[in-house]
Amino acid sequence: MERAFWKTPYLTTLDAPVLSIEGRDIMISPTIFFAESGGQESDQGTINRIEVSQATVEGDQIVYRLAADPDFTVGDLVNVQIDWPRRYALMRLHFAAEIVLELFYKKFPELEKIGAHIGQGKARIDFALAGNVSQHFPDILLQVEQLVAADLPIESRFTDTEKLRRCWRIEGFSQVPCGGTHLRSTREVGRIRLKRNNIGAHKERVEIYLLD
Ligand SMILES: [Zn+2]
Repeated sequence: MERAFWKTPYLTTLDAPVLSIEGRDIMISPTIFFAESGGQESDQGTINRIEVSQATVEGDQIVYRLAADPDFTVGDLVNVQIDWPRRYALMRLHFAAEIVLELFYKKFPELEKIGAHIGQGKARIDFALAGNVSQHFPDILLQVEQLVAADLPIESRFTDTEKLRRCWRIEGFSQVPCGGTHLRSTREVGRIRLKRNNIGAHKERVEIYLLD
């Protein structure tokens, strides 16, 4: 199965052949429809105008569960459409979280991340940390703004083609392993807001929101 969402993360529609059908579970290749992994939520959208109710990574495959019985058979070309406003919000929040996390690591190399999630409305990163994480927000936000204003190209590529391992890289900033879908430039992150949430003893949550 070819994951076209890596090579062409800005593609919103694609005709692709059906590889298999089992009830309402189908596989296609290539696919532009991302399935939840690495904390980034699945896309939403349709396959031949039938809503996809669930997208699941199974080994090196992705299985799409349809909300209705398929009206096509194996080998047919089906039209896949993803909800682009949702995906683009996910990509922007995802990369905002990547940058915020990297800036925290650069500032505190010993810092331990204990969770992360990217949804359509917000992203969050959880740290094992004593003290109030929000005291660092002004400094982190200033650096985020500088990275965004610098409009730096984001390179995404394989580090291991066999094991489907990917990374993103910004020249002079960082290289980080990640299998999500990434923006082309830091400029696209836009303006963000950070919000602190204490989620337990020595557990600090950083929530990230898009402002435009
Ligand atoms: Zn990523």
